[in-house]
Amino acid sequence: MKVLVAVKRVVDFNVKVRVKADGTGVETANVKMSMNPFDEIGVEEAVRLKEGGKATEVIAVSLGPTQCQETIRTALAMGADRGIHVQTDVELQPLAVAKLLKAVVDKEQPQLCILGKQAIDDDANQTGQMLAALLSWSQATFASKLVINGDGTANVTREVDGGLETIQAKLPLVMTTDLRLNEPRYASLPNIMKAKKKPIEQLTPEALGVDPAPRLKTLKVVEPPKRKAGVKVKSVAELVDKLRNEAKVI
Ligand code: AMP
Repeated sequence: MKVLVAVKRVVDFNVKVRVKADGTGVETANVKMSMNPFDEIGVEEAVRLKEGGKATEVIAVSLGPTQCQETIRTALAMGADRGIHVQTDVELQPLAVAKLLKAVVDKEQPQLCILGKQAIDDDANQTGQMLAALLSWSQATFASKLVINGDGTANVTREVDGGLETIQAKLPLVMTTDLRLNEPRYASLPNIMKAKKKPIEQLTPEALGVDPAPRLKTLKVVEPPKRKAGVKVKSVAELVDKLRNEAKVI
């Protein structure tokens, strides 16, 4: 079974994101970029499937500018077999990403596509769902456990409001990862070296027959309002007094 994993290059989760002065977006120049954390979980799961004999090949796909190849290299160092880079400098929105991934899926014919449940930059939480719809495949979102059965189905445990829900899905399947699915490994130095020799295929939206043009326009991006400093109270009586007379909430 071939497994395709989508890996997005995003601003590193440790970076304090700053809004551009003109309010058109966030600052990405000279900012550390990394693989979207949910996609690291996706790569880890795919590599574990290969190590467990369930997957035959793991393909990491990233869409965007040239630097996305670094993200693909990280996936290769974690254990993916080869990469596909769809090169474009156009701002990609979830529908365009889903259409491009569908075109790659049509070409590669994997049985399982693993995406992150959301990208930590746009927080859209849309691409996996859109991809499953475009492919008319089963979808299992927010997965915290995956078991591939021998009969062309997979059991996926999902994090839902009341607890955990386990569903059985027919393959082929689009699955999106939640935090508790696994703990991604760090790539070892020998594996980083080996990853340099693994192949990355270059494609373009034009070659895949997809128009990646954005359909949504960002009107404005602003910083969240600053939180007011808190105060310490000396007694419960003072707290009750402040809640009643200052905050007027009781
Ligand atoms: P989103 O719907 O934007 O929150 O993204 C959900 C998931 O879609 C991400 O975790 C990735 O797995 C995948 N994805 C989104 N954009 C890209 C991209 N440019 N390249 C590769 N994968 C992507």
